[in-house]
Amino acid sequence: MTQPYHHIAIIGIGLIGSSLALATKRILPDTHISLYDHDPNVRKEAKELGLGSEIHDKIADAVSQAELVVLAVPVGAMAEVMTQLADRLRPDTVITDTGSTKRSVIADISPLVPSNCHFIPSHPLAGTEFSGPASGFATLFEKRYWLVLPNGNAQEKVDRLAGYLGRLGAMVEFMDTEYHDRVLAITSHLPHLIAYTIVGTAVDLETHLKEDVIKYSASGFRDFTRIAASDPTMWRDVFINNDEAVLEMLQRFTEDLSYLQRAIRWKEKDKLFDLFTRTRAIRRSIIDLGQDS
Ligand code: NAP
Repeated sequence: MTQPYHHIAIIGIGLIGSSLALATKRILPDTHISLYDHDPNVRKEAKELGLGSEIHDKIADAVSQAELVVLAVPVGAMAEVMTQLADRLRPDTVITDTGSTKRSVIADISPLVPSNCHFIPSHPLAGTEFSGPASGFATLFEKRYWLVLPNGNAQEKVDRLAGYLGRLGAMVEFMDTEYHDRVLAITSHLPHLIAYTIVGTAVDLETHLKEDVIKYSASGFRDFTRIAASDPTMWRDVFINNDEAVLEMLQRFTEDLSYLQRAIRWKEKDKLFDLFTRTRAIRRSIIDLGQDS
């Protein structure tokens, strides 16, 4: 089977960038992988970990020979990175990003893309609460959705990118920008906001109560602390850049919370039981789709 790209460049060597490098090396060993990160310590660590084919000290050197450039930096840094590399790209280069928000990234990057290159936004629905080059692993994208936004590009370019991501084991689906941001607001951004809130509430409790919350955390709180341990820069950028969709889902959530509050106050057992039965069915469907064990 032919390899989709001979040379790829990955900018940002964190969880996503290092996982992409490892997955590509494992599945497509003949692909040349150039890596760059603005932090010299991250570049040093990546070298020690043996990530990619070459770790570059200059972003221009990392991208100048690449057929595909993947931007795996926080969404708030996408424009800065694109500005730095735009005039170093070969004609016909495909640029994709892995950002968790799409409307803001498309607005930031599109005006900076040279007219002879092609920007195809994307988003892997795979991750952990860890960050940095040592957190990556080759199987991160296996059997996980990777959403691709065709963004008006030629079908052949989109299919080639989708083919590459599919070879890494990802399940590629195409999605429209606004829809992406609304779906992610409820499936990912709101749960993170709720986890950050609950853990924040616990942090503000008086000392002895806080100590017991940590001690007895296995009863539910612990699962929220895992999500609330996610990278602060990444998540600050997500909320700032997907504000509209997050605020819309937060409004709905607040209304539903008031409904539950009222049901508890008036001891409306059936309302509580009905909701909890419906939510249990959602969990079953996620497992049936292979998106959790
Ligand atoms: P990460 O582990 O924090 O890695 C990002 C790397 O990019 C860091 O080493 C960061 O360095 C570097 N960076 C920041 N600004 C840069 C710049 N201007 N030039 C070059 N490098 C720069 O983050 P990640 O989890 O891999 O996330 C990367 C992207 O994928 C984000 O857009 C995120 O929204 C998206 N994503 C993440 C997940 C997830 O679960 N983590 C899932 C799907 C998509 P510093 O730390 O020094 O700034």
